[in-house]
Amino acid sequence: MKSLSRKVAQAEASQTLALTALAKKLKSEGVDVVSLTAGEPDFPTPAHIKAAAVKAIEQDFTKYTVNAGIIELRTAIAAKLKRDNGITVTPAQVLVSNGAKHSIYNALQAICNKGDEVIIPSPYWVSYPEMVKLVDGVPVILKTTEKTEFKITAAQLKRAVTKKTKALILCSPSNPTGSVYTTAELQAIAKVVESAGIYVIADEIYEKVLYDGNVHFSLGSIDAIRDQVITVNGVSKAYAMTGWRIGFLAAHPSVVDAAEKVQSQVTSGPNSIAQKAATAAFEGNDDEVKRMTAEFKRRRDYIHAALTAIPGITSTMPGGAFYLFPNVSAFYGKSHNGVKVKNSDDMAQYLIREAQVVTVPGSGFGANNNIRLSYACSMQELEKAAARMKDALSRLK
Ligand code: PMP
Ligand code: GLU
Repeated sequence: MKSLSRKVAQAEASQTLALTALAKKLKSEGVDVVSLTAGEPDFPTPAHIKAAAVKAIEQDFTKYTVNAGIIELRTAIAAKLKRDNGITVTPAQVLVSNGAKHSIYNALQAICNKGDEVIIPSPYWVSYPEMVKLVDGVPVILKTTEKTEFKITAAQLKRAVTKKTKALILCSPSNPTGSVYTTAELQAIAKVVESAGIYVIADEIYEKVLYDGNVHFSLGSIDAIRDQVITVNGVSKAYAMTGWRIGFLAAHPSVVDAAEKVQSQVTSGPNSIAQKAATAAFEGNDDEVKRMTAEFKRRRDYIHAALTAIPGITSTMPGGAFYLFPNVSAFYGKSHNGVKVKNSDDMAQYLIREAQVVTVPGSGFGANNNIRLSYACSMQELEKAAARMKDALSRLK
């Protein structure tokens, strides 16, 4: 057989998806696992959104749509960006794709040439560096730690910019850390972006999942850099619509045109029925997302307290999203039954084996001292997970 693509061989498969699949497999085999893997709200999609999809089917809205997405959805997104984010774009500056993941990939395809550097703060969402590699770019990782609540500073960004820098990818609230950048921090970062003339892919998928009075600020609302910002968002998290696969990017017309061209040759426009549902989501109110966020906060408070009460575990307090990213490195070097836990991959394996709790190792997010737990699952499951983890970790000597 001929060899396969070297570029693909050098990229990693998504760890979040791999571990989610593993948890599902174990469950189907009858193992009593607690899955804290995928960042997927456990709530149903709100009724008025489902009704819009049913209506679309009944009205035979089941054909190809225009490549960029139906105009009523792009109009609803432009209105949402104005209302929620202070971003001024026309519907023509919005490209609807098969999830925000697809939007980020389209954006990178649109802007990257071979060897272009893309700055990615770590811990990062697993897919950013791999997508950069897949478009022949070079991921440049900016390391952060708990000391700065896992946030980069404007000065750190300035030092990392080179002639080859094409873009920065910034995610706030962050997956996997839950950190939220303040308006002042983002304004300082925007100054560096402006003087460097680089693009920013602003991943705002968790914008509505915020706690403790945190507010979301959009880089795309800053006039001086509006042409440089590619705002990415979608319906997966805010409206519990992960399976519907609708995301979007909003950007300068030249970026949208290029991304639209890529999409026209690779996937065409996304699912027609899901587009109608997403229109209802953006046109409707946010009562459900407020209710979900209140429940996520209750779970965050519980899981943060329960895990940091375990000797050896420390954790920042997430200000948004639905992930806890505890530091478990105090256990590295310890063993149970002759097996030593040396890193986050070993720890994730240990927790599956000894506690039947499935987490995602920090290694996939560029942070080997940590593991990621999604608390987008029921309180009972979180209680079960915390008790089992406490027990299993106490056996590491
Ligand atoms: N960005 C981040 C930070 C994410 O966690 C996810 C995962 N859902 C996405 C983008 C992509 O979301 P989707 O493709 O479901 O819209
Ligand atoms: N974004 C979610 C996560 O990080 C879903 C899985 C994925 O697309 O990576 O768990």
